[in-house]
Amino acid sequence: MVLDCLCDFKANSLITMKRHRVNCEIWKVRDKNKIRLERQVQTYQNKYGVSNAMQIKKSRKKRQQTCLEKYGDKSELGKNSNIFNKVQKNNRDNKKK
Ligand SMILES: [Zn+2]
Repeated sequence: MVLDCLCDFKANSLITMKRHRVNCEIWKVRDKNKIRLERQVQTYQNKYGVSNAMQIKKSRKKRQQTCLEKYGDKSELGKNSNIFNKVQKNNRDNKKK
């Protein structure tokens, strides 16, 4: 295991890194929000190969697939959905009240 500090210091264990960071000026003045954002982007890139959740076509497709299996349409509110009539009926009933 090799860990990188922001100052290019490399440690081969978490304890070594923790000890280093206590005295590392670069680490002390780090921009926490920026680091969090970068880490998030990194996670997306590692997991999905994209930098942003909106780009994850795979999960969108999976959602559509789930709806297709469950309701018979890409969207649970789609025209071919088997709950479409139920939803419409509920809407009508709600309006009557
Ligand atoms: Zn450092």
